[in-house]
Amino acid sequence: MAWFKKTRKPMSAPAKEKASRVPEGLWVKCPDCSNIIYNKDLATNLSVCPKCAHHFRVSAPERLRMLFDGEWTEYDKDLVSTDPLLFTDTKPYKARLKAGIANTGLKDAVIVATGAIDGIQTIVAAMEYAFIGGSMGVVVGEKIARAIERALAEKLSLVIVCCSGGARMMEGALSLMQMAKICGALARLDRAGLPYIAVLTDPTTGGVTASFAMLGDLNIAEPKALIGFAGPRVIEQTIRQKLPEGFQTSEFLLEKGMIDAITDRRELKGVIARALRFMGAAQPQPVSLAESAVALPTDAALAPNPEAARLPSQA
Ligand SMILES: [Zn+2]
Repeated sequence: MAWFKKTRKPMSAPAKEKASRVPEGLWVKCPDCSNIIYNKDLATNLSVCPKCAHHFRVSAPERLRMLFDGEWTEYDKDLVSTDPLLFTDTKPYKARLKAGIANTGLKDAVIVATGAIDGIQTIVAAMEYAFIGGSMGVVVGEKIARAIERALAEKLSLVIVCCSGGARMMEGALSLMQMAKICGALARLDRAGLPYIAVLTDPTTGGVTASFAMLGDLNIAEPKALIGFAGPRVIEQTIRQKLPEGFQTSEFLLEKGMIDAITDRRELKGVIARALRFMGAAQPQPVSLAESAVALPTDAALAPNPEAARLPSQA
């Protein structure tokens, strides 16, 4: 018989965490200033932090809601990738497509739609980052190319909101070919004298930066967006030099002349509308002669060169 006996208690299970009384998704923490923001306040502020103006990433449908005056007409929404290479990495590409469709409700990483921006009929292509990183495969390429062709046929202005990790590696060279296809179509748009504005949001990288994102008549970026081609580590290893502070942000690129402007999301629609008017985008036709006589001087005042306002009619 032992002199001492130690009764062993079984390890107690960790106390159950008290159920939070705050429903999930009601509050968001700003990654920049760490303030806790009420979700509804964030939504009314176009997903910009009211304290520090941090721009949260927004989905493609939200983006269209921010830009258009009201309803819009979507095109080619049923185009889907056929997985031409039968590609498998850690997961089959088909499974990734299925997950993307389930997550976003979209068939691929871009929405193309026409609608009015401050009264100007415009075709907008908005990229969706939640769909395989907003990557550009054959469907994204085809939808954007068709959007440009539609702009040409209907004499519309074009706005592309970029938000992408680049070309879609699961479609290999086929995804790279989209760069040339879109650039070719943009060249025709340019010859027709129709305005194209590229909006660069966080992140705009890879094959998207290397093609249509940088080809706008006006390239506007959102503040502090990551914009670049290759990642900083790859560049450092290649050029064997330390990269400067703030490299690949909108502010750095503006300073170096790579983009034309940085615009707060809350002012973006107004800036786009003003720029489109300046570039001579199709205006809604005035109803009567008396009204057009009133409308004319303001149009002329907007464009310093009166010829600029007449570009589309020359095409
Ligand atoms: Zn903040």
